Amino acid sequence: MSKSVKQCTKEWQGHLTALGLYKGRIDGKFGEGSLKASILLLSGSSTSDEQNDNTSEVNNTELLPANITNNFDWWEWECEDGSPIPESAKPHIEAMCKLVLQPARDELNAIIDIVSGDRSQKHNDSLYPKDKYPDVTYPTQSMHIGKGAVDVSSEKMEQLGLICIEKYHNHVINGLGLGIHSIHMDRRGYISYDNDRAFWTYGDTNKFYPSWIAKLIEYNIKY
Ligand SMILES: [Zn+2]
Repeated sequence: MSKSVKQCTKEWQGHLTALGLYKGRIDGKFGEGSLKASILLLSGSSTSDEQNDNTSEVNNTELLPANITNNFDWWEWECEDGSPIPESAKPHIEAMCKLVLQPARDELNAIIDIVSGDRSQKHNDSLYPKDKYPDVTYPTQSMHIGKGAVDVSSEKMEQLGLICIEKYHNHVINGLGLGIHSIHMDRRGYISYDNDRAFWTYGDTNKFYPSWIAKLIEYNIKY
């Protein structure tokens, strides 16, 4: 039986990690980090020792601009089950990239990984199995289903979180789920959903960066 693209990508990320070229998650999503590591490899830097010599060169290499903005491309948004992104979702995804993700990417000068982008109804339902979520009703609701929500992570999580809080405060986004390892954002309020504005946290807020807490208090956002 042939392997899935995701499985192959995971294996590829594993090889790149073993070669010391890739430090991201082995998640089967071929994002900017995987692309840069692959270019390092293809440009002849096959060991971590050699990487030092070539890193600056590759960082200066002009990558082809991605298809949405300079650093964000459609494939990063595709559902994990391989479903195509519905046409109706594309303007919302573009807005998220142009108004939030690319400005944050430029400000941080750090890769922002899309952990979860668009989801098919079927895939979103599968994330909430009845035995673990007895109160769930199907079909499940989510801003990830064709409405341009995104879960992101970055090496610079603290700075990224501060930008996200700012974007929420300024109503550029109206859905923000803040967690130490992953941040959810969506543009409800501009897109029909069951509420116009929502803030929530993932995990223990005691573990949040003090700078996040200070910003939440400054903006009177209840956490
Ligand atoms: Zn999410």
